Amino acid sequence: MYNLWRSELLRLLLVVFVIGLVFQVVGNWLVAVIIGFSGYIIFLLYKLFEIYHWLNQGGKTDNVPEGSGILGHIIRLIYRHKKNIEESNELEKAITRQFNETISAIPSATIVLNQHNEIDWANYPSLTLLGINGQRDVGIKIDLLIRNHTFVEHLYQHSNEQFEMTSPVSTDMTLAIQLVNFSERKRLLIAHDISPHIAVQRSRKTFIANASHELRTPLTVIAGYLDFMQSEADLPLSLQRPVTKAIEQSENMKSLINDLLALSKLEDNTLKSKELSEIHLDKHLEQVVQTLEAGGRTSAHTLYVTVDEGLTLYASQKELDSVCFNLINNAVKYSEPETTITISWRKSGRYAIFSVTDEGIGIAPEHIQHLTERFYRVDSGRSRRVGGTGLGLSIVKHIVERHNGRMEIHSRVGEGSTFSVILPITPLSRTNSGDSD
Ligand code: ADP
Repeated sequence: MYNLWRSELLRLLLVVFVIGLVFQVVGNWLVAVIIGFSGYIIFLLYKLFEIYHWLNQGGKTDNVPEGSGILGHIIRLIYRHKKNIEESNELEKAITRQFNETISAIPSATIVLNQHNEIDWANYPSLTLLGINGQRDVGIKIDLLIRNHTFVEHLYQHSNEQFEMTSPVSTDMTLAIQLVNFSERKRLLIAHDISPHIAVQRSRKTFIANASHELRTPLTVIAGYLDFMQSEADLPLSLQRPVTKAIEQSENMKSLINDLLALSKLEDNTLKSKELSEIHLDKHLEQVVQTLEAGGRTSAHTLYVTVDEGLTLYASQKELDSVCFNLINNAVKYSEPETTITISWRKSGRYAIFSVTDEGIGIAPEHIQHLTERFYRVDSGRSRRVGGTGLGLSIVKHIVERHNGRMEIHSRVGEGSTFSVILPITPLSRTNSGDSD
């Protein structure tokens, strides 16, 4: 700072010296002062013009005007400021370039949407997966380009949930899509191709369904012969027990095949609204309990049944039978004879809740979250002994989800369990009913 003013002071001294010289020549102080300061002012104006010209040309850092004193300092300050801006612009450009390259390298389609659902930016896979061109389609509302009903519903519901839909580019391609908010006004649409995964799942399901069908016929023949042998009066004593055991096992196999077929059917299609009917839950439960009693399954237990008066529900009758049958049957299987099983249907707001409470063996907390997985059993020996397949709760979970409901399990080891199914009373919406497929 001191240097800065010193050079400016030196310049002024030079002006004074020039004034002295001019005075010597012209012999008039006023004229000498005017000439001296005019020169100084012209010099300053010239320098200011140079700075103005430089800034007007964009203030390029490779074309900086020369300068000393206070003006030189101002030039250096502007230069430094400009340089900083240029550097941060370069950095910003490099970051943006890197971001674009990274996002473009992601195999998933990635689209940035503004608050009006217009496309701000899209990477290359958006073209192959969704038919959206990152250059051509910028500024266009995305629902004008993707007219899928499920997509538009998720877009306007502002839901973050992942959903699946058929690609607008090819009906053979299934996409998993998620819309994520990343700032107050922007959303990121991420879509990836899950067709290979779906194909593997489909072939697994087809295999299970075919294998189950193929096994059913020979098993029916074997079971028929076993029944015939058992009914024979002259069946040797040594064969009576093995035949009874074989019949038990064939019954278990039949249940397993039936459950596998039921599960693959549930997985194969969505619930259609034509499958729904209004079910009077008191009558329905009465029939389920009668069927179980007729099969001799509940004879050793005390059943306590309550249903809220007039409670009805829109559901698939066949699937609701399966839910009730599986849960009551489990309560019977996993509790001792002579204990009580409480079964109820009650209304809670827009929902109907089916609960089965037993006083059985109960389930430790670490097992509860796995119970609806296929073939998951807390004690597989016990499950097999009581004729379990390990698929019952998996079937219940599928049915409940198809009806847009949920399941709750509360249990204490040694005290008993409560399995509850919570279903909306009103019919399913068009989307969930699968009618749009
Ligand atoms: P399973 O045919 O073996 O009964 P499920 O899918 O119906 O198959 O049930 C899975 C497992 O959950 C059972 O093997 C059993 O360990 C446990 N479970 C189900 N219901 C009950 C219950 N009411 N009490 C205790 N354990 C139960």
